[in-house]
Amino acid sequence: MSVWRKRLVDGYNSFKKGDYVDQKALYEKLGTHGQNPDIMLIACADSRVDPTDIFDAYPGEMFVARNVANIVPPAGNDEAFHGTLAAIEYAVTVLEVDVIVILGHESCGGIAGCLAGMGDTDNAGFVGSWVSILNEAKNKLVADNPHADDLQFKMELEGIRQSMRNLMTYPFVTDAIEAGKLTLQGAHFGIVNARLLLADENWEFEEV
Ligand SMILES: [Zn+2]
Repeated sequence: MSVWRKRLVDGYNSFKKGDYVDQKALYEKLGTHGQNPDIMLIACADSRVDPTDIFDAYPGEMFVARNVANIVPPAGNDEAFHGTLAAIEYAVTVLEVDVIVILGHESCGGIAGCLAGMGDTDNAGFVGSWVSILNEAKNKLVADNPHADDLQFKMELEGIRQSMRNLMTYPFVTDAIEAGKLTLQGAHFGIVNARLLLADENWEFEEV
C-alpha cells in the first residue's frame, strides 16, 4: 500500500473509532436533515491553516471554502468558472449564513508570490493569474510603504481587506448586509504563536 493510501485509511479508521463514535448522533442528524451552518469561512489552502481546527468547530458548524491566499475575486473580473464565488453565493442565498469570515495567515505563499510579482506578467500560470487579483492593492501598499520591513504581514492584512471589498461588489452580498442578515469579518492567524487577529469596524486588526 502506498504511503499516502495507508495514511488515508489509518486516519479514517482512527476517525471512525474516535470522533465519529463521539459525534454519531450529530452525523446522523446532519446526514438526514442537511446542514445549517451560521458561519462561512474563506481560508487559504495552506496545509498549516485548518479553520475548523483553529476555531474548534464541530461538523456542520462552518461552511468552508479554501483557495490560494483566501482571495475573493471582484465581480466582472472575467468569464472563468469560479468555485469560490459559487460557494459564497450558496452560503449567502441558500444557507443564509450570518457572517463571512475571510481568514488570512502568517507566511502565506500566495501573498509572497503576489509581492514577488508573480501576477505581474502574462503566462504566469493559474497561481500568478489568481494572485494578480490583489495586484492593485499590492501596488498601492508598496507605493505607500517604500521602506517597510513587514510588507508580507501588511499585504496579508491588505489581501483580507481587498477580498472584503470585493465581496461588496456582489448585489446578493450587499443586499444581505443592508437587510441586517449578513456581516463580513476579517481575521488573521499567526502560525508560530497561534495568534488570532480580528478586524474591527474600520477593518483595522486587533489581537483577540
Ligand atoms: Zn496562504
